Amino acid sequence: ELPFIQKKMVLLGDSSVGKSSLVFKFVKDQFFENQEPTIGASFLTKTIRFSTHEVKLQIWDTAGQERYESLAPMYYRGASGAFIVYDISSPPTFQKAKFWIKELLANGESGVIIFLVANKSDLEHKVDSVMASKFCEENGLFYIETSAKTGNNVVPVFEEMAKQFEYTSQSKENE
Ligand code: GDP
Repeated sequence: ELPFIQKKMVLLGDSSVGKSSLVFKFVKDQFFENQEPTIGASFLTKTIRFSTHEVKLQIWDTAGQERYESLAPMYYRGASGAFIVYDISSPPTFQKAKFWIKELLANGESGVIIFLVANKSDLEHKVDSVMASKFCEENGLFYIETSAKTGNNVVPVFEEMAKQFEYTSQSKENE
């Protein structure tokens, strides 16, 4: 029996950037699904096994309601991590990602781990990768390019988040 930690994470970003697709690609056929009827949102749970422990990721999909920005806090409340997703073929979605980063840093949990996820990497790159990764370096965020369509980096981005959670929890234990 491996020890485990359970962490909530959320995906935020403009609509149609591929948030649901990323979650589906990652968890399909290997997860527990729950409905949360009071807010009409759902989360999926997937366990990532490391050699010494397991990380149970509770992944919240905002079901399109992130467009109503006033509803967003109930998704990211209690979230230890977030994927801020944009579409690499759509510059306006990168601007929207910056909005969500500000929002999360101002109102999210302190110490929330943020990955800026440039999805649809299979399409023409209209948001510059060097600029985006430099932006992340300057702001203490992780940067990764994914494609829910081809599967590129989909498993790694969730695994990397799980690794960061482990690091966080160990640092806390060592304090
Ligand atoms: P959400 O609104 O952010 O949850 O976005 P969806 O997951 O509903 O995806 C929006 C559209 O983008 C759908 O038609 C998907 O098939 C498409 N899509 C999602 N991810 C990718 C990707 O990595 N590459 C391409 N080419 N299309 C994608």
